[in-house]
Amino acid sequence: ADLERKVLDSVPTGLLIGGRWRPSSSGATVKVEDPSTGAVLAEVADASPEDGLAALAAAHEAQADFAALAPRERSDILRRAFEAMLARQEELALLMTLEMGKPLAEARGEVAYAAEFFRWFAEEAVRIDGGFATAPAGGSRFLVMKQPVGPCVFITPWNFPLAMGTRKIGPALAAGCTVVIKPAPQTPLSMLALGQILLDAGLPAGVLNIVTATDAGGVMEPVIRDGRARKLSFTGSTGVGKILLEQCADKVLRTSMELGGNASFLVFEDADLDKAVEGAMLAKMRNMGEACTAANRLYVQRSVAEEFAAKLGERMGALKVGRGTEDGVQVGPLIDRKGLDKVVDLVGDAVAHGARITVGGERVDGPGYFYPPTVITDVPQSSRLNHEEIFGPVAPISVFDTEEEALAAANATEFGLVNYVFTENLNRALRVAEKLECGMVGLNTGLVSNPAAPFGGTKESGLGREGGTVGIDEFLELKYVAIGGL
Ligand code: ADP
Repeated sequence: ADLERKVLDSVPTGLLIGGRWRPSSSGATVKVEDPSTGAVLAEVADASPEDGLAALAAAHEAQADFAALAPRERSDILRRAFEAMLARQEELALLMTLEMGKPLAEARGEVAYAAEFFRWFAEEAVRIDGGFATAPAGGSRFLVMKQPVGPCVFITPWNFPLAMGTRKIGPALAAGCTVVIKPAPQTPLSMLALGQILLDAGLPAGVLNIVTATDAGGVMEPVIRDGRARKLSFTGSTGVGKILLEQCADKVLRTSMELGGNASFLVFEDADLDKAVEGAMLAKMRNMGEACTAANRLYVQRSVAEEFAAKLGERMGALKVGRGTEDGVQVGPLIDRKGLDKVVDLVGDAVAHGARITVGGERVDGPGYFYPPTVITDVPQSSRLNHEEIFGPVAPISVFDTEEEALAAANATEFGLVNYVFTENLNRALRVAEKLECGMVGLNTGLVSNPAAPFGGTKESGLGREGGTVGIDEFLELKYVAIGGL
């Protein structure tokens, strides 16, 4: 508990605007809660609309100088921040576990994953190139240069409090863009700690501005509609993403949208079943299932369905649930009451439609928003579990007979983020991967996220890609110069 206090006390609690930490202009604060106990961990400044605009003004003012900074200098700032994050991995992990609930081991993993975006984009910052060509008819020449898009607005969710920030901040800084970021009000502490790390790494004042706000719409809409920001990158629900796209239309902002998912997890009879169970545990249970990439619906071919469900049930039932700081805990609480109620609702709906709970399904008594690892079989296709993001530790299993049937079920959703496929048959693997309507496929693996790969979705799961060599392009404009008279 002493260590927890010490870590909490080390976090700035203000808004970061123009390189300085300051209270909200309204004096308002927001309480950050420990989802495993409901206890208040900290109180941080709750931005007013004026604060949002002040942050935008700071980002706008810092833009020209930052864009002119040598790429190597921008790269070095990211590299130093990467190293600082790893040096402080333990305290950052504890902070994240306290405010978000995930087990410490997973929080450590996220700190490393989040830091990796800074390393990756430190390396990309010095590789921004352009083009030069001769017009097909000869004579004139084409020069193509890449320039930062300008001040960016970021809105991030609570499920990966650090990584969802660094995967936007990393490429933005590498490209020479300044930033206003609004973290989720449930988990601002990780982002506030990161802000200090970036300042300590030498980031110039005003380049990164952090505004925590409970009235997300009230504070961010004027910032988006102002016109000084040139880009919005959002990770969150599809519903909010659509509202933000409309707001961006006003001043034609560039957008990157990482929205909801409804991943299927397909297990064919020619799969290595142990590998498939391992993959399902990762795809389903990483972050308590609170991930847009979480396996939402498991479809298993009939001849192996019973064995797969039994093996998965055994693994799920053996997981240790508890406060993320406790030794050996593998499943923490869900983020809040709303998140917990949704999971309870979805399971209730499935059972009402004839599904069978084989593991879990009983809400845990006591404080905190705990829900046990749960396996449900005989889930009718029409049940809400197959159509809505569960965001909890619930694995609904359905049976299929043919490859066509599996593909049709997997694609029967407005989402198109990721799908998982387990088969040892190369032809089937490639055939199915090609036909899945989505931005990413996990082939014999339950984890696709990697800073060096292009993460993103199709259909209503979003626009644009984060990470990989294309990740920085989201923050660069092309300028074509036609050269005549040669
Ligand atoms: P969740 O339901 O998982 O919290 P949201 O999409 O509601 O997902 O939240 C993701 C992020 O979007 C959070 O930072 C939240 O504060 C923010 N947000 C929610 N509503 C709005 C809005 N109307 N305008 C801007 N940001 C919003």
